[in-house]
Amino acid sequence: MTKYKLEYIWLDGYKPTPNLRGKTQIKEFDHFPSLEELPLWGFDGSSTEQAEGRSSDCVLKPVAVYPDPARKNGALVMCEVMMPDGVTPHPSNARATILDDEGAWFGFEQEYFFYKDGRPLGFPEHGYPAPQGPYYTGVGFKNVGDVAREIVEEHLELCLEAGINHEGINAEVAKGQWEFQIFGKGSKKAADEVWMARYLLLRLTEKYGVDIEFHCKPLGDTDWNGSGMHCNFSTKFMREVGGKDYFEALMAAFAKNLDDHIAVYGPDNHMRLTGKHETAPWNKFSYGVADRGASIRVPHSFIRNDYKGYLEDRRPNSQGDPYQIASQVLKTISEVPAKSAAAA
Ligand code: ADP
Ligand code: MN
Ligand code: MN
Ligand code: MN
Repeated sequence: MTKYKLEYIWLDGYKPTPNLRGKTQIKEFDHFPSLEELPLWGFDGSSTEQAEGRSSDCVLKPVAVYPDPARKNGALVMCEVMMPDGVTPHPSNARATILDDEGAWFGFEQEYFFYKDGRPLGFPEHGYPAPQGPYYTGVGFKNVGDVAREIVEEHLELCLEAGINHEGINAEVAKGQWEFQIFGKGSKKAADEVWMARYLLLRLTEKYGVDIEFHCKPLGDTDWNGSGMHCNFSTKFMREVGGKDYFEALMAAFAKNLDDHIAVYGPDNHMRLTGKHETAPWNKFSYGVADRGASIRVPHSFIRNDYKGYLEDRRPNSQGDPYQIASQVLKTISEVPAKSAAAA
């Protein structure tokens, strides 16, 4: 038997965005534990905005497990928070009730800033560094500093070793800003992996004395970019049938549901979606081929392929909850009959 270090990880009850929490328990197994073998556990919800002081026990229900590459015999256990009965989802548990479909594929582009001493990594103590321009996909000390690349590489290794579908990295437009992409089939699978990749990044950067700033516009109303989490999506129907009529009906449904999308696309998005620096204004829906100033960008390949493939919703922000983002995308898609192309 081996003593495994099980890190149970969950989302707390803070609003508008939950924080990641985690604690360790040691259990003996004769092999790496499967999800079914992991027991329910509990925590004090009164310390995480998930319960009143008196009856404060909340239950942790494992829903995904990954090897923890940073620990000998470690496992990362993604959990849902349940009520004390162990079966009723806690009100803060957004994951339990989302729409899911393994034929729906999601690619999230998570942008974020490294922060140190209250400012983006690489910013001088007073004033600003040279304006944006050379930092996006940049190389060299004056563009990316001396530690950011070490961190993103280490994070990439951790994700890959944990079995997380990390798909790539790039330095972003603002100094100290980076992006990684996570791809998954099904909303729960993709979103679990985004949350776990966020967890690994936050945990990794502790030893560097660096924080991760996920806010979508940390530098406010300046010429410095904000952070998004573009949501690339496709369903089996979009990939295999699609068609112009279906696409137009889909875009009409997205336009109609604008408020429902913005409601779950991350807090303070009006600060970022101003229409000035990136994407369209938050209160006006638009789409366009290869248009990075639109709410939804339609890749060239989509048009070339007779309106088949994936689309990119550019509005979700870096602080958004990928469970809710994916679910809202699926909800809007489900309103459009998936037979218009065949009928036409
Ligand atoms: P860009 O920065 O040009 O917007 P990225 O390369 O950063 O694009 O991200 C593109 C994302 O699209 C990746 O996460 C990728 O996994 C995702 N993607 C590619 N094909 C599909 C598809 N068929 N369905 C859903 N997502 C997809
Ligand atoms: Mn990208
Ligand atoms: Mn980007
Ligand atoms: Mn993008």
